[in-house]
Amino acid sequence: MMIRRTLTGVGTGALTLALAAFVTAAPQAAAPATKAKAAAKGAAAAPPAAASALPGYTEADINAALQAAYAKYKDLQEGKNADYIPALAKVDSNVYGIALVTTDGKVYTTGDIKSEVSIQSISKVFTMALVMEESGVDAIAGNMGVDATGQVFNSIVAVEQYKGAEMNAMVNPGAITATSMVKGASRDEIWKKILATYSDFAGRSLSVNQEVFKSEADTNQRNQAISMLMYAYGHIKDNPLQATDIYTEQCAVSVNAKDLATMAATLANGGKNPVTGKQVIKSDNVPEILAVMATAGLYDDSGKWLFTTGLPGKSGVGGGILAVSPGKFGIAVISPPLDAAGNSVKAQKAIADISNALGGNPLAPKAR
Ligand code: GLN
Repeated sequence: MMIRRTLTGVGTGALTLALAAFVTAAPQAAAPATKAKAAAKGAAAAPPAAASALPGYTEADINAALQAAYAKYKDLQEGKNADYIPALAKVDSNVYGIALVTTDGKVYTTGDIKSEVSIQSISKVFTMALVMEESGVDAIAGNMGVDATGQVFNSIVAVEQYKGAEMNAMVNPGAITATSMVKGASRDEIWKKILATYSDFAGRSLSVNQEVFKSEADTNQRNQAISMLMYAYGHIKDNPLQATDIYTEQCAVSVNAKDLATMAATLANGGKNPVTGKQVIKSDNVPEILAVMATAGLYDDSGKWLFTTGLPGKSGVGGGILAVSPGKFGIAVISPPLDAAGNSVKAQKAIADISNALGGNPLAPKAR
């Protein structure tokens, strides 16, 4: 695995080195250039600190924060799996995995890191990002809007209130509309582009959990109705049921905590995947993406979430939540039991603890 690591304090500008290393490997020795510079200054060569994208925090600090949150909430029994999509009710409620990926491409994990859940609403961020990439940020702002609804994610009242405007792409009507805006001559072309975008964000080829896709496709009449309303109000231009079907498939993409944390870290890193080094989207669009997440990423509990963490985040009813500390890290937790708003109970608590322990809140002048 190639990791791009930036070493600061080595003269004019930062020296970026591509180092082949596993993230779990022992800290790298200081680069020769650093030693030469120190020697030239006549300074005693300081022992190399474990490099971290988080100023003031070592790798041990980061691992300790993850492990503390894991242990603290492991046995918490609050919440319950989503069951309005039958396949989600069957997912093991005890799956609990945590991952944090820094903007210098280091991956920290703890807990159940192999198990996958369906991405569900977290997909909305990345389809919106694709639409912004293809059509500009104003295409989103000018269509479904970028305002909070204060309603549940599949609210029809929210559609009716402003005839499908003055909402956002993080709730179902806006998200299905965003899916309808992805360019492509056929369903297949549109779908392949969506899946390729998610895979670039995650840094590996993702695939669909067909059981979840089928289960939701069989029971998504409410989303079909929502798409028809968005069509009636002119926000979806054509083929609303195809948009709903593609949206349903995108929600069934299967991910583990590391995938989600890497997707978040790509946003934290200005649209460039810090593990693969690929620029996935224009960095110019990232502030608008994060703003929509901050406004509505945890549905009608987005205000509470921002109050607690200061982080743009996004949840899904599969049990995942990801959050972005701009310039620092992406973090994700999966744990299927949800609260009444549809947000994973453990994921909210664990992310808040870890981010606050590592100075992740971009609204706070210092760590808390
Ligand atoms: N696929 C789900 C739905 O449309 C996604 C909802 C969610 O994760 N909040 O109902």
